[in-house]
Amino acid sequence: MTQTERHSFEAEVSRLLHLMVHSVYSNKDIFLRELISNAADACEKLRYLAIAEPQLAGEGGFAITLSADKEKKTLVVADNGIGMSHDELKDNLGTIARSGTRAFLENLADKGEGQALIGQFGVGFYSAFMVADRVRVVSRRAGSDEAWAWESGGAGTFDLTPVDLAEAPARGTIVELHLNDSSLAYAEEHTLERIVHEYSAHVPVPIRLDKGEETRELADGSALWVKPKSAVTADEYKEFYHHVAMAWDEPALTLHYRAEGRQEYNVLLFVPREKPFDLFDPSRKGRVKLYVRRVFITDEAEILPAWLRFVRGVIDSEDLPLNMSREMLQKNPVIETIAKGVTGRVLGELSKLAETDAELFQKVWSSFGAVIKEGLYEAPERRDELFKVVRFKTTTSGDGWRSLADVVKDFKENQTAIYYALGEDEKQVLASPHLEGYAARGLEVLILTDPVDAFWVRTALGFEGKPFKSVTQGEADLDGVKPLDEDKADEPGAEVAGLVATLKEALKDDVADVRTSVRLATSPVCLVASDFGLDRMTEKLVARQEG
Ligand code: ADP
Ligand code: MG
Repeated sequence: MTQTERHSFEAEVSRLLHLMVHSVYSNKDIFLRELISNAADACEKLRYLAIAEPQLAGEGGFAITLSADKEKKTLVVADNGIGMSHDELKDNLGTIARSGTRAFLENLADKGEGQALIGQFGVGFYSAFMVADRVRVVSRRAGSDEAWAWESGGAGTFDLTPVDLAEAPARGTIVELHLNDSSLAYAEEHTLERIVHEYSAHVPVPIRLDKGEETRELADGSALWVKPKSAVTADEYKEFYHHVAMAWDEPALTLHYRAEGRQEYNVLLFVPREKPFDLFDPSRKGRVKLYVRRVFITDEAEILPAWLRFVRGVIDSEDLPLNMSREMLQKNPVIETIAKGVTGRVLGELSKLAETDAELFQKVWSSFGAVIKEGLYEAPERRDELFKVVRFKTTTSGDGWRSLADVVKDFKENQTAIYYALGEDEKQVLASPHLEGYAARGLEVLILTDPVDAFWVRTALGFEGKPFKSVTQGEADLDGVKPLDEDKADEPGAEVAGLVATLKEALKDDVADVRTSVRLATSPVCLVASDFGLDRMTEKLVARQEG
């Protein structure tokens, strides 16, 4: 009477499984971290739903339970979280849901760098097939009177079979791994204990080891972010960062504080060091996680502005009502106050880092600078704070980065504006004849090559009273600044005036004006945009959009 259904994996899952089975990961331990992370997510989802419908969760609280059997060569990871219905088992464990995994696969295909990079990725549930040749998942969605088993050997297909309720958990999911012969160590208690300690000690759901007659607690599930800073070690922060951000680098910044006053909330946020592959992917999820009094609410509230979308971690409010729907979080004044406070704090910490550890800050800047700069355009009210943080390549910076304060400090005598050149890349900008006159005067020019640059620089009024001025626009007002080599500064003679008149006549249908200019030093001519029109680069961008 069992009606087993056979389903095929999505093609990308098959590819991923092939990679798992052939163990591209050198560190297999991480499969357990992935399964525990899923179990914890499932508990947190139900914890949230149970606020409105307490009967879904019943008594007894949440837990993740590990049990191993050396004889049978099995390891079981069980949770009493939300569980999965038939359709959820089929969709969630048959396709690839997470954008990060897709990005990972694409990267493997594009660059063939997978082997080196693979350690940075968590590939989720499917990593179970690194250590198991057969995986069986029995799940019962909270409140449902059906249970289903998902089972697969990792090659092409999986089976779904209904399970008798007597053999199913009251709610939640049991993941049973049939360990392959080279992974039998994962049936040893001390191995499990070591891995939990290393990767999952601060998952906000308790983790227990089932030893037959007794269970032992491996992790207590307490929320790290409500502990006082002095009670948390650097390693604990780092492990929690890995859990919460699903990233495996060392965070560049850890921000842990409790805000008191009009709003009370705990913040534990991290600025990563490394740039994730999907930083510019608009569907990128897993932003800052919002908790209300230790209950996970959502990671889709987009509390921080998009230009801080690389920041990861937890914000836990004491004031929001627990029973508010996720939709109600939008335009909520409490959230807005928190967002404002936290954004200011993140910016403050970034500029502090720039002062105290220039090298680390440069690393952060090269990973996320292009994103942070979006704030110059999107959050004009933060511009002054952002100007303390932004760094630029300039015509004189070489490999280094320069702040606006550095640039202004090194102004030449009589220089009145901060010069910039827009372009597609640094090399192209540096080759531009428009820069010759500036170079001849030793003037520093910002090189702006990020897509957002053309937008903010045109609307920013200036920095410390110095306006921004494009080197490809309008009259170059360099007259007051002396060339480094004075001989080259000959006044144009009468024959040049004649040439200008002839050119004006010949080109009158094509250009608005012909002028002599101090902009050039060795090239004979260049095209510039008028004072009030669009910059040359912006013109090009616009032309591309309209074309
Ligand atoms: P991710 O956790 O990043 O979404 P995974 O591959 O780890 O990706 O898991 C895929 C999906 O399967 C999860 O999003 C979740 O919906 C579902 N899932 C996995 N394990 C569990 C579990 N123990 N309980 C409930 N749902 C689960
Ligand atoms: Mg997962």
